[in-house]
Amino acid sequence: MTLERLHMLIDGDWTEAASGSVFTSLNPANGQAWAELPDAGEADVDRAVRAAQTAFDRPEWRNLPAGARGKMLRRLGDLVEQNRERLAVLETRDNGKLIRETRGQLGYLPEFFHYAAGLADKVEGSTLPIDKTDMFAFTRPEPLGVVAAIIPWNSPLYLTAIKLAPALAAGNAIVIKPSEHASASILELARLAGEAGFPAGIVNVVTGLGPTAGAALTRHPLVRRIAFTGGPETARHVVRASAENFAQLSLELGGKSANIVFDDAELESAVNGVVAGIFAASGQSCVAGARLLVEDGIYDRFVAALTERMARIRIGDPIDPESDMGPMATEAQLGVVERMVAEAKAEGATVLAGAQRPAGHDAGWYYEPTLLSCPSADLSVVRNEVFGPVAAILRFKGEAQAVAMANDSAYALAAGIWTRDIARGHRMARDVRAGIVWVNTYRAVSAMAPIGGFGLSGYGREGGIESVLDYTALKTVWINLSEQPMGDPFVMR
Ligand code: NAD
Repeated sequence: MTLERLHMLIDGDWTEAASGSVFTSLNPANGQAWAELPDAGEADVDRAVRAAQTAFDRPEWRNLPAGARGKMLRRLGDLVEQNRERLAVLETRDNGKLIRETRGQLGYLPEFFHYAAGLADKVEGSTLPIDKTDMFAFTRPEPLGVVAAIIPWNSPLYLTAIKLAPALAAGNAIVIKPSEHASASILELARLAGEAGFPAGIVNVVTGLGPTAGAALTRHPLVRRIAFTGGPETARHVVRASAENFAQLSLELGGKSANIVFDDAELESAVNGVVAGIFAASGQSCVAGARLLVEDGIYDRFVAALTERMARIRIGDPIDPESDMGPMATEAQLGVVERMVAEAKAEGATVLAGAQRPAGHDAGWYYEPTLLSCPSADLSVVRNEVFGPVAAILRFKGEAQAVAMANDSAYALAAGIWTRDIARGHRMARDVRAGIVWVNTYRAVSAMAPIGGFGLSGYGREGGIESVLDYTALKTVWINLSEQPMGDPFVMR
């Protein structure tokens, strides 16, 4: 099979790496290489960041009215809408995400650009009620400069849009480093940004590996803001790199989110919500509801209904709309899943379903939906993120124990609560430590709703009305209104 040859985007040019070196992208459904991409090194990253800085500094961009940026973002949203099917197929081929899911995501993705478009001209400073005579002061929110966006492989377009849209609305320039496992759809999005009217150099994409291209980008002296989504170990490298340039940071990391089912839950909804939480996207979701906490009175009925539903999950090629679950995005990730399940069994977990590769799918990196009954919360599979279709199930009695168990985690990204008691739903939403709490639903996302976590799940929020401000810094301007000559120069006034 001939490989498609993709190029990266620097300063409006589709370009190779200076070294000429390339890496390949594999299709997770069959393990075959399908594309070759430039393997950016330090020199390429430097070129991209300098191009972004130059484009940012141009008066045509700096002095462009915010409403004009808004119009470009609106066009970009429209273009994403028009190219929805093409982008969905491209992303599915690249990272093995189910076509139903990528089509679904592409359905609401334009909203991220339309929403930011509306916010672009509503970023306001304020006049300050200064306690000094004849002094007027006001603030101006200003863009930061060059933003570095580091993206993982599981939802490239969505996780780029949630950074790109507010960063551009605020008037920044951006250099995006996609995952080496899923760059193709982001390159297409950058092409659409050019079509929407963003000038050359405002949106750049460097393709390459984390320890080379990613590291060079995060420590670059001209980078002022890093928006990172990925795993906690990589985040530690990023935080250290930012000690070089003091770039502002947001870290959207992993999770071990609790999905909590009370005795009074509507059983079918709870089962579907749990399946959505951990088996959708084959569990490769930062908000995966991987810890199932189920109340004693419903436990046996719930396990029976869940395992029956799991048995009906159709594993198959992600491009087939009939498939419910596709493969792991990388062979290495399949290895992680297998290792963690083996470890859980050795530590005393009982396999209630799955825990193996499915028969008849030898070519791709598939794994069965897996349910492990865990005798204690100390098992490694209860503590650590698997990033695969593996649910650890534990029993609880009463609300207080549910809260204690839910909060017994170093992560705190998301949580699900299943109950028909609305007051209990609110109490749980208040008491469970997580950046997102879903009551009687799971994995609902919107441009209008912030996401982000606490603890090992990172810090900062993406999305929502604050998101544009997050890509600005306030400048304070003082104006002396007095006609009098300025007095004593040796005191602070
Ligand atoms: P990863 O941390 O391995 O890689 C993420 C990105 O960082 C990639 O682009 C990679 O090339 C880059 N990178 C690697 N080393 C780097 C370095 N030294 N310096 C700079 N960049 C570097 O993560 P992944 O395996 O691609 O994705 C899975 C992880 O992402 C999971 O932990 C998951 O929970 C997390 N995630 C979080 C969210 C969220 O919104 N909170 C969303 C999706 C995924």
